[in-house]
Amino acid sequence: MTFLASLNPQQREAVEHADGPLLVVAGAGSGKTRVVVCRIAWLILERGVQPQAILGVTFTNKAAGEMRARVGRLLEENGHPAGAAPLVSTFHSFCARLLRRYGNRLGEVREGLGPGFSILGNSDQVAIVKAALKEIGADAGDLKPRRVLGAISRAKNLGGAGDAVELHGADSAESGILNRVYKLYRESLVAANALDFDDLLLEAVRLLRSFPEIREALQDRYRHLLVDEFQDTNRPQYELVRMLAGTRRNVCVVGDQDQAIYSWRGADIGNILGFEQDFPAARRIHLEQNYRSSGNILKAATAVVANNTQRKAKRLWTDGPEGDRPVLLRSSDAHAEARAVVHHIEGLLDADPQMRVGVLYRTNAQSRLIEQALRQAGRQFAVVGGPAFYERAEVKNLLAYLRAALSPGDAVSLQRILNVPARGIGRSTLGRLQEIASRGDLTLWQAIGQAVDLQLVAPRARAALDRFRKLMARLRRTAASGNLRFTLERIFEETGYRQMLESDESPESRSRLENIRELIIAAQESADCGESLEDFLDQAALVADSDGIDTGARILLLTLHVAKGLEFPAVAMVGMEETLLPHRRSLGAGDDALEEERRLCYVGMTRARRHLILSHAASRRLYPRSPAEEMLPSRFLGEIPADLLDDRSPWQRRVEAEKAVHRTATVRATSMETHNSVSAVAGFFKERGIHVEMEPAPAGRRAQARPVRTQPPRGAPRLGRALRDLRRQGPFASGTRVRHSKFGVGVVRRREGEGPRAKLSVYFDSHGMKKLVAGYANLQEL
Ligand code: ATP
Ligand code: MG
Repeated sequence: MTFLASLNPQQREAVEHADGPLLVVAGAGSGKTRVVVCRIAWLILERGVQPQAILGVTFTNKAAGEMRARVGRLLEENGHPAGAAPLVSTFHSFCARLLRRYGNRLGEVREGLGPGFSILGNSDQVAIVKAALKEIGADAGDLKPRRVLGAISRAKNLGGAGDAVELHGADSAESGILNRVYKLYRESLVAANALDFDDLLLEAVRLLRSFPEIREALQDRYRHLLVDEFQDTNRPQYELVRMLAGTRRNVCVVGDQDQAIYSWRGADIGNILGFEQDFPAARRIHLEQNYRSSGNILKAATAVVANNTQRKAKRLWTDGPEGDRPVLLRSSDAHAEARAVVHHIEGLLDADPQMRVGVLYRTNAQSRLIEQALRQAGRQFAVVGGPAFYERAEVKNLLAYLRAALSPGDAVSLQRILNVPARGIGRSTLGRLQEIASRGDLTLWQAIGQAVDLQLVAPRARAALDRFRKLMARLRRTAASGNLRFTLERIFEETGYRQMLESDESPESRSRLENIRELIIAAQESADCGESLEDFLDQAALVADSDGIDTGARILLLTLHVAKGLEFPAVAMVGMEETLLPHRRSLGAGDDALEEERRLCYVGMTRARRHLILSHAASRRLYPRSPAEEMLPSRFLGEIPADLLDDRSPWQRRVEAEKAVHRTATVRATSMETHNSVSAVAGFFKERGIHVEMEPAPAGRRAQARPVRTQPPRGAPRLGRALRDLRRQGPFASGTRVRHSKFGVGVVRRREGEGPRAKLSVYFDSHGMKKLVAGYANLQEL
């Protein structure tokens, strides 16, 4: 077992721990996951434990997949015959598996539940709560369905299972409603033989509690239990661990209190403390050596998390090289930030094509500008843990409304939105409409008209269709105004989409809301460039099916939450600004919330092995209607000692560049005729098509390049201005030959504006003149 030799003494102690409970608490990158993986292999190879007797649990599907692969490799390298593999799973999928396996007993723990249960999606849950609210006659304005669901989920995860759950509202009246709705909600689930996501855990716990024989069978089967990311387990998950461990108590948990980032999902750091109480003889091992990050990155991350008061200080060191200091990029606005970060990433990839880069952000909506900048640079990327911006359901739905408003014949779009948000046009009505359409050779839209006018469907469906028809007619009139942003806003409002999202307190809905806000900002930016509604839709469609997204890509985009447990040679954390990280919601919400944001920042920074880019923009547009807001750098940046940071903001670069030009000019001025130095500098820019202003030569004196200031320019110094022009010139100047993934080769005939928002008129040999927006078009310069 060669892998044992690659472990340090503490890791080895954990891997070779004989039997009984084991707790490994250690900082980021100290090899906790490696311990879990090696321990699984060791148990099989050295102790002869059957692979089927081992259960490994972790947090995300991606982490589970990686762990499975790593265990498989270790076993193979050490000559273990392929075949049976240990089960490595997430808590939720393990529970779903369990419930299916013992499906025949489920009815005994929960009325109406059988082996063929279905798992409810989010929209199903909302529909059920809505119906329940209606049934008890609660005013929908008082209590939004998603708020009810949030309360249900919280109560379930904190409290016990099933009927014993007690919901608490703002006052006794609200609590009353909540509990009545919950009762109806549960009845609906029972009637439908369905479970929601939280139920998977809760019912599994109940199953084990209720049936000693099932519990014992499982304890007998899973003789070793290993849990990664233990700091983020919630109450039912912890219960499950305790029950599965049984009296054998072969349970190994690993975690890091500094990386607890899921308290909003009921995770409880206290479980680490609880573990030692429930398993009094647990062996506790600390790991202190970090193997992931180079010295400067580790120091910077440690400096940030040290500001949390609710933590035990711990030592984390590396004997690796100090490495590069984290790079700090400051940009004037969010567009400039995305370009600066992509530019920096390109430098890393040029230096090492094997480099893998993770671009991390706090909110999903932030990916849009990064995606755009990457497309513009012609770089492949993949979004981890979710779809790319224009692929997200809420973005697609709003765009489908816009399309349907513009062209009623667009059946695909119509079909997509007919019942989104739910408005009582179910599958059977859609089937009937399709029948009407095909019989009369009508479009779907015409079929809706006929169904209403000729009363071809049941009265309820007819009323719903009629409302939908009127809604679309209104939206069509709005779209005819040609005001893109306004149209999208009206769609968001009138379809009930906004209400649906705002009434929900779940993080998923907030993220959707942010995505839609971002879409409307994109629409406004497009309108600012003089684009029509159709232009915008074309670009969105082109982007959505463009080939920028590649699963084998070297650049990965993900949220900080999704990044947990992963590592990358290079990491860029973008949007390090107050109200983004720490997020607005955590401000004023108490120390706990702020400390969780700081842990999130720590998680992000510690994903980096050799390169860490920390970036922030001085302004950012957060709301479609208001201008860009001034953004303050994140307080977490301020917690990193300045000498640990390598400030490479564009402003700083300009100063450096100007210094360099000044040095050249001075050297030349002293060694050559003055006019030579001036013409040398001017020539330099002329070659690049830039006019350089020169100091007018006073009578009797020769022209001279004006000395360059090295301080931040107030009135722009002239060479500084020339350098700015150089940047402004940017790509896709008129005359540039380009390649487009669909239209082929063409020539830029006109460019209006600059940067990614520049509007290009490009003549393509095979498709004629096309208007494109530089940032969306994924054009390659030839
Ligand atoms: P996190 O807290 O982020 O989940 P972790 O504690 O689980 O981190 P691992 O992912 O297991 O840490 O390890 C971090 C990196 O260090 C991995 O690349 C791993 O292969 C490497 N590593 C761990 N232990 C050693 C070791 N003894 N020798 C060499 N490399 C090691
Ligand atoms: Mg880990």
